[in-house]
Amino acid sequence: MQMATQAEFPRPDGGAPWLLTPGPLSTATETRQAMLRDWGSWDGDFRAMTAAMCARLLALAGDAAGEFACVPMQGSGSFAVEAMLGSLVPRGAKVLVLANGAYGQRAAETLRYLGRDHTVIDKGDYMPPRAPEVDAALEADAGITHVVAIHCETSSGILNPIEEIAEVVAARGRKLLIDSMSAFGALPLNVSEIPCEAFVSSANKCIEGVPGFGFVIARRAALEAARGNSHSLALDLHAQWVYLEKTGQWRYTPPTHVVAAFLKALEIHAAEGGVAARGARYRDNRDTMVAGMRALGFETLLADRWLSPIIVTFFNPADPAFDFARFYDLMKAQGFIIYPGKLTVVDSFRIGCIGRMDTAVMRGVVDAAAHALREMGVRDATPPAVALAERARLAA
Ligand SMILES: *Cc1c(COP(=O)(O)O)cnc(C)c1O
Repeated sequence: MQMATQAEFPRPDGGAPWLLTPGPLSTATETRQAMLRDWGSWDGDFRAMTAAMCARLLALAGDAAGEFACVPMQGSGSFAVEAMLGSLVPRGAKVLVLANGAYGQRAAETLRYLGRDHTVIDKGDYMPPRAPEVDAALEADAGITHVVAIHCETSSGILNPIEEIAEVVAARGRKLLIDSMSAFGALPLNVSEIPCEAFVSSANKCIEGVPGFGFVIARRAALEAARGNSHSLALDLHAQWVYLEKTGQWRYTPPTHVVAAFLKALEIHAAEGGVAARGARYRDNRDTMVAGMRALGFETLLADRWLSPIIVTFFNPADPAFDFARFYDLMKAQGFIIYPGKLTVVDSFRIGCIGRMDTAVMRGVVDAAAHALREMGVRDATPPAVALAERARLAA
């Protein structure tokens, strides 16, 4: 792969800031330009766009045997998660949710709304769920039929060990549902290697589209068996799939412009070199940014082993002159939108590595952070001792 030059990643249009966030994120100009015309949702041109999109996504998922189908769903990623859970988990089933952050919690909350029996292994803010404890939970409760795992838990940025989890779930003969929202497209998720019933992702994460829909890649057999499961008319994945197979259309109004932008984003993804190249660029972004921030004294929540190439959590500095709201404004004034933290124990913030950005942009982020610290009169970005003690728990 050729190294991307900065010229390929021009500043966003109209002086808009870079989004160092986990989606919506900074998109390519060509992706946004693909939205500058209108499509009829019923028309053959748009039906062909939907078909092309689904075929590309299935190829990305490694569905060589044609055992899976792609079902897009209108709405943000959570709508697609809810559609997957409500449709693929029958009413009498029981789900084990592996939670280590906000998105695992949201999956459990969704099941609560849906009235689906579930139990949670809650690892707190960021400890990864590991194979032996999942195995023990499945051994202890033969009633558990499904397991929900979060691929990259975007709230801390941890990359969960999805391979080892998939292995024990399959060995115990249970069905795995994966929230790969912030990982698919940049991290390998090949259904021929990671046994699962279905996984879900959305338009505005690692494929670098704009927000407006999610998609579920599910076993055809699971979709066939899902008839009548859904609590919701609009979020019925089985009905959406059947209608799509029959007519080539989405049920109800599709986000036509968003689909057009997504097709362009998929083209750019392929031209860049697919999942491997996308993941490599994000890893370079992360490594450049983390090294620069550490040189300023900042510390990451996670040890290198668990750092995803998607988003990184940093502890707030201990220096009383540090104020996150001020830091945010100073970063924004320099053209960078960062993200607040989501930890409950210590104060933190997050910087995303995904989107149409390269290491030159990430060096700009670090320079901007150094400038912001100087403006605030923060001499050193070292976190408080309590934060480092918290981190030591993870390493243990
Ligand atoms: C982004 C994301 C979602 C969906 O969030 P929405 O705000 O509904 O798009 C779900 N799970 C994970 C892990 C995510 O990163």
